[in-house]
Amino acid sequence: MQQKPFTPQLVYIEPAALEYPLGVKLKDKFEKMNIEIRNTTSHNQVRNIPGDNDLQKYRNAKSTLVVGVRKTLKFDTSKPSAEYAIPLATGCMGHCQYCYLQTTMGSKPYIRTYVNLEEILDTASKYMEERAPDITRFEAACTSDIVGIDHLTHSLKKTIEFFGKKDLGNLRFVTKYHHVDHLLDADHQGKTRFRFSINADYVIKNFEHGTSRLKDRIDAAAKVARAGYPLGFIVAPIYLHEGWKSGYKEMFEILDETLPDDVRKDITFEFIQHRFTKPAKKVIQKNYPMTKLELNEEKRKYKWGKYGIGKYVYQTDEQEDIKDTLYQYMEGYFPDAKIEYFT
Ligand code: SF4
Repeated sequence: MQQKPFTPQLVYIEPAALEYPLGVKLKDKFEKMNIEIRNTTSHNQVRNIPGDNDLQKYRNAKSTLVVGVRKTLKFDTSKPSAEYAIPLATGCMGHCQYCYLQTTMGSKPYIRTYVNLEEILDTASKYMEERAPDITRFEAACTSDIVGIDHLTHSLKKTIEFFGKKDLGNLRFVTKYHHVDHLLDADHQGKTRFRFSINADYVIKNFEHGTSRLKDRIDAAAKVARAGYPLGFIVAPIYLHEGWKSGYKEMFEILDETLPDDVRKDITFEFIQHRFTKPAKKVIQKNYPMTKLELNEEKRKYKWGKYGIGKYVYQTDEQEDIKDTLYQYMEGYFPDAKIEYFT
């Protein structure tokens, strides 16, 4: 079944959000949709998410939208793919079992959208001025799947058009959703790289519940490429499973069948192998107690990390096999594409 565009089950609104036109517009929209709206003093402290236990609360939080004002206007860095993360939203309605938001968002898995877009974009302008004449890259999907909620807010669309007018900055983001139609006519001026996260069908079906199907993502990629956006794919997380080589080959075959020939000159690929940390494993098993995800430390190689939290990656020979296999497919089907990195 095709993934439907996200509709929140419950909406919270910060009073301050109603001082902004987007806040008022969203309130009006959700009232017309007959969605329950509650007040919250702060988007950082939403209480009373319904549910009898932690698991239910987690599920309900992921379909709760909080309309707030972004107070912290200091942007986080976002190396290596961009200089800064531009904060348009936090949280996601998807249920990817390996999603890192589970550890970073902890007890606040609800989705937050920020209505003070002008202030956020002004801040982006300041960061660009600071780095001039160098180009500054902004990543819009560090803390959410921004495309997946943008049909409600159009914040991303406005941000794309903002960068379309800027000489010193560009935008990028990645999505697992195919709801891109409203972005096709945005005046992007080629300044936004539209990336899709893709994976072998088996991995999407088993571990990425609540997101768009592979074929739908790739159809959406063809649409945005036809609309002139520079295109990219993040193959992540690359996950070893029975028949993985044919699974990833099939993924490339669908790409090859679907993408128009004339957009293939400027495509980027990023490859990220599956990895986990001990704290992440705990959270995954709590949020998805029936998970089939293989999280066995003994089968993996330990890679030391910052702050003493190392991660478990595949063994060196497995990594080589993944890299050789996927590079070969990519070069076979898309000889002009650019590999950004494998990690
Ligand atoms: Fe996390 Fe992305 Fe999946 Fe959303 S779509 S749950 S942000 S991995």
